[in-house]
Amino acid sequence: MNFVEEPKFAARRRMMIAQLKTNKFAFAADVLDAISQVPRHLFCQPMYIASAYEDVTLPIAAKQTISQPSTVARQMSLLELKPGEKVLEIGTGSGYQTACLEALGAEVYSIERQKVLYDLTSALFKKLNVKVNNICGDGYLGMPEHAPFDKIIVTAGAFQFPPKLMAQLKVGGMMIIPVEDKSGVSNMYRVRRVDETHFDVDKLEECNFVPMLSGVNNAL
Ligand code: SAH
Repeated sequence: MNFVEEPKFAARRRMMIAQLKTNKFAFAADVLDAISQVPRHLFCQPMYIASAYEDVTLPIAAKQTISQPSTVARQMSLLELKPGEKVLEIGTGSGYQTACLEALGAEVYSIERQKVLYDLTSALFKKLNVKVNNICGDGYLGMPEHAPFDKIIVTAGAFQFPPKLMAQLKVGGMMIIPVEDKSGVSNMYRVRRVDETHFDVDKLEECNFVPMLSGVNNAL
């Protein structure tokens, strides 16, 4: 990606990385390296720039949020992404995590259901030269025309394991997805495709995400 580095923000970003290293989860070194390259303040709304390098979610358009840096680091570390792998991201949002995935050297595909966010973020990708194949669509459907994917990362809380996403995983591939149970508690899950018909599912820590909703919202 292309941007002009400002010393003030570079320093804050280094402090954020130092803080992430003290998190209860051990994040992968290559993930922290990718995160250290992405200017999060450029993905925030102007009024929240002062908090851009704190480990917090912040409001973006369409009543959505930019993910917390520690959540991005956690999901990306679980993904065990290798350079050149094809990854599908559900929930482009601000594009922050998309840029982190690109910085890690992945071939990134991304879906956002809020048209207003899709438009804003597509323009930002163009400005910053973030290379990604992104569409406005329903993430529950995936991107069958680009499947199969080595990895799938879902950044909104689903209410089931989306069958169409499972079908678009390569054998040997992995999906990281937050899923809410009937009592309203969400957990992170790691789903590995063992062969054509078998998936290994690991239930991980409790987590908190905006909901993964069906269909596209075209309201601007
Ligand atoms: N990684 C993003 C997270 C944004 S929050 C960031 O850091 O900015 C989750 C996003 O998922 C929201 O933008 C929401 O609109 C989107 N989303 C929810 N359900 C979806 C679906 N079915 N398909 C695609 N995107 C969806």
